[in-house]
Amino acid sequence: MIQGAVKRALLGLGHYARRLRHVEFPGVAVLCYHGIDADDATAAPLSMLHVRESDFAAHCRLLREACDPISLDDWRAALAEGRPLPPRAVLITFDDGYRSVLTRAAPSLSRYGLPAVLFVSTGPVEQQRLFWFDALAREKGAAAVEAAKTWTAEEWRALEPRAPGAADDPGAPLTIEELKRLASQPGIEIGAHGISHCILARAPLADQRREIEEGKGALEAWTGGRVRAFAYPNGRPGTDYDAATVALVASAGFDHGFSTRTGFARPNEPALERSRFLMLASVSAQELAHRLAYSWHAPGSAS
Ligand SMILES: [Zn+2]
Repeated sequence: MIQGAVKRALLGLGHYARRLRHVEFPGVAVLCYHGIDADDATAAPLSMLHVRESDFAAHCRLLREACDPISLDDWRAALAEGRPLPPRAVLITFDDGYRSVLTRAAPSLSRYGLPAVLFVSTGPVEQQRLFWFDALAREKGAAAVEAAKTWTAEEWRALEPRAPGAADDPGAPLTIEELKRLASQPGIEIGAHGISHCILARAPLADQRREIEEGKGALEAWTGGRVRAFAYPNGRPGTDYDAATVALVASAGFDHGFSTRTGFARPNEPALERSRFLMLASVSAQELAHRLAYSWHAPGSAS
């Protein structure tokens, strides 16, 4: 285990960038972000899912300088033409549809010319209410959210809708207008993430179909673009979605699906069940560099 201060020094000395020049990834490193918090934000339940703004900017710089950032369209084109991807392909993704992606992530994405996919649950955007897990975490703590992941779709629907506290509430979802603005930023692709963010495998098939198809339809109506990629809410294979869910995603016309299984998205993985690396608030730039250069390549690596 290498300590954070050592990693910071190695990053500053350019060690990771030099090392990465000789590393070839075994697949695409798909990074899974959620929202981006202000640097001075106070810790709140689930805020570990939101990387700090200055850390995100440092991630972007590292990815631009030491890796090969790609868009999902680059990936599609490489697959269609049978071309290999660049040796250190990285795809940035954001789940859920937080306003902070527009206010705190988009400036760094454009500064460094980085493509990204934003997976949006349409219900909170349309109704301007908190995501159910943020509302529940604020009322009852993060442990209550874990327990609620085993609820049925009916139980989630029974949750009282709750509005965000203010425009800069870190839990605030994008508005439809803000989503349109993001969708028109070069390099940004909008993907689907259901409507209510219910755990699909816990919902009856008819509900799953509605979540998958109507969420896609709403995004296409709002943005005027095709929505071709899906991220499974919560994303654990066999737990949060199952084979029936994947079949519904295929029949809805999606060509890529993303789980939260940890690992590189290797070429032999099904396109509708790509692996990703979850990006938590604890991942500094030096930590990301260390993982890209070393720990994600270790046998049995899970973080
Ligand atoms: Zn999500």
